[in-house]
Amino acid sequence: MASQIHVVGSLVVDRVMRVAEFPRAGQTVLARSLAIHPGGKGANQAVAAARCGAAVRMCGRTGADGALVVSALRQAGVDVGAVQQDDPSSGTAVVMVSDEGENSIVVAPEANARLTEAHVAAFLAQAVPGELALFQNECAGLAAGIRAAHARGLRVWLNAAPADDTVRGVDLALLAGLAVNETEAEAMSGHQDPEAALQALAKRMPAGTVILTLGAAGAIAAQGSRTIRHTGYRVHAVDTVGCGDAFVGASLAALAEGRALEDAMAWGNAAGALAAMKPGAIPSLPGRAEVVALAATQARSAG
Ligand code: ADP
Repeated sequence: MASQIHVVGSLVVDRVMRVAEFPRAGQTVLARSLAIHPGGKGANQAVAAARCGAAVRMCGRTGADGALVVSALRQAGVDVGAVQQDDPSSGTAVVMVSDEGENSIVVAPEANARLTEAHVAAFLAQAVPGELALFQNECAGLAAGIRAAHARGLRVWLNAAPADDTVRGVDLALLAGLAVNETEAEAMSGHQDPEAALQALAKRMPAGTVILTLGAAGAIAAQGSRTIRHTGYRVHAVDTVGCGDAFVGASLAALAEGRALEDAMAWGNAAGALAAMKPGAIPSLPGRAEVVALAATQARSAG
């Protein structure tokens, strides 16, 4: 039977303002428009996995103003029973996009920073040992959550984003899997070269799997002494926001079905490429049929 995926992660309300140019210190500018979207790496990855057909439960914290994130999760079929909506202030990202297409982003973690160890422990206690747990680094209590999930006998995956001192302090030996992009891989290993970073990280988790995504060039993975390469899919990319989350959610969905790492890499790359073809994060996350169809084609030959 397929494993459930138990996601412990962030819910963020993205407020995207289009501006002619960014304000300088002391200046006020008027935005051309304001768009409000559901986001947060945890929510995005939960939705990505659910759209690929996985049974997903999510644990997190938000406030009344985070209702749109909860409803996006619910719409995707994610079980939101363990998302607390009792915080006075939801995680919020203020994104400014200039006429030149540049981004400037401020994130206030708020409710995500007030997720409690007790709440996470109660959530994990409902998981069946052997199933998959997925964490990112946008909520409080990461190390304790990972320890609790490992103690419960779950196969724990970490998307080490953002890669800061908290994530560098995690005991990688507790993980079944680690997913990073090139920047995160360098921050965690000290190696700029992705191959060297992959091997250095793999050495720290000999019983686990490390996946390193390479943008349009696909991804590489290490599992024991095996290295797997996938060169990605060629698509017309319009917006790469959410690509990493699409990759993580889709590859975990493949693993939850008991598929091999090769399939998980194909699903992850297919979902990442499909997400690059549409703007936004959650709206750009592809469904199972699209992912499976693209994953069945030859890498780099699609589109
Ligand atoms: P992040 O979004 O976390 O920085 P990456 O940039 O490595 O992560 O992208 C994650 C995955 O999304 C890649 O491994 C790849 O499968 C896919 N992807 C990203 N950008 C493109 C692109 N321009 N064309 C095709 N696939 C892409």
